[in-house]
Amino acid sequence: MLRVADHFERTDTGRQRRANEDAYFARSPLFAVADGMGGAQAGEVASGMAVAVLDGGLPAGSGSVEQRLADAVQEANGRIHRRSRDEDALSGMGTTFTVAYLGEDELTVAHVGDSRTYRWRAGGLELLTQDHSLVGEFVRQGKLTQAEADEHPQRSIITRALGPEPQVRVDTATWKAEPGDVYLLCSDGLTSMVAEREVARVLGASTSIAAAGRALVDAANAAGGRDNITVVLFSVEEVGGPAAPPTEQAPVADPDATVLGQAAPRAEDVRRAVAEDERRRAEAAARRRAPRTPAPAADAPRRRRVPSWAKVAIVFAVLAGIVLFGGYIASQSVYFVGTDQQGFVTLYRGVPYELPGGIRLYSENFVSGVSAAQLPAARRGALIDQRLRSRGDAIDLVKQIEQGNITAP
Ligand code: MN
Repeated sequence: MLRVADHFERTDTGRQRRANEDAYFARSPLFAVADGMGGAQAGEVASGMAVAVLDGGLPAGSGSVEQRLADAVQEANGRIHRRSRDEDALSGMGTTFTVAYLGEDELTVAHVGDSRTYRWRAGGLELLTQDHSLVGEFVRQGKLTQAEADEHPQRSIITRALGPEPQVRVDTATWKAEPGDVYLLCSDGLTSMVAEREVARVLGASTSIAAAGRALVDAANAAGGRDNITVVLFSVEEVGGPAAPPTEQAPVADPDATVLGQAAPRAEDVRRAVAEDERRRAEAAARRRAPRTPAPAADAPRRRRVPSWAKVAIVFAVLAGIVLFGGYIASQSVYFVGTDQQGFVTLYRGVPYELPGGIRLYSENFVSGVSAAQLPAARRGALIDQRLRSRGDAIDLVKQIEQGNITAP
């Protein structure tokens, strides 16, 4: 049987919004995140009404946990919809709602909108929910990658929410949970600012659930904090399970000082993680070997001494590698402003060149919400000229453009 070992929750206004329209619910073993939208304070009302439906805990009933959570989400939708219809000031309000419940040995999620539930297990981060958003549909159709979707200018348009309609379609699903799992519920204010691999890195490096949660909110703010940020994290442990082997319990001064997801590892998990790690290393080694010269003929002497011309070639290759690597590092300290494929003003890191074979010397750093067509024609060319700039200059320029401070000369 499983239970919640530790949890952390925080909501933050971010750096650009005046108010926080996110809300969360955290009462073990039931957790939720809601991201409200609507004029004035309507978004706050909607997200607050969503989480309030959980005040009594998991709704009673004879149905499955999935059914009972879906009923609760449906109930919240009905309340929000009726109130938005009855009160002019709240007309059009809506909210996302992602609810997670840890049962005896499984996790059940009910979900509407583009807030997310992730599972962190054995060093890997997995998205459990599907975004009900325009770009989410494109990801499912294979037209965009998740990483592209997370940076897309239209990423905040959602296709399903609580509030707009009298009925809402609720996604539910159940997964087997395991001791050591960590679950992350979050609003898009985290995932639109912080790439998934960075979220995974933070979870892997943090020494406690609370430290991880704080680091995630800080990372979203450091990246600009353009939206409200809500993070709910909880870890799972076995109740009355076999104690961890004594060899695993090195004395630690700080009780928090275990790496996330490694608390009380089960022998089986450790074996699996080690095997997985070995497999990845072997694959990586195979990839590194692949592009070299063909394998020597079977009759070639096996333990030949390395001839001196080969030594010279190796030294040359190492030097060339150092020069290329230096060039790469130098190219990463410059930025330029251009447009992306959709014509949005975009901040790029690197230099605006492509090597033969399609190797790009730049990467997209930030896509603004401003289309190049919106810039005054007389200044457009000079603004997005792909001239190399310092990071501060380039960011400042994109900010000026976003704030509409660029006017015709
Ligand atoms: Mn949001």
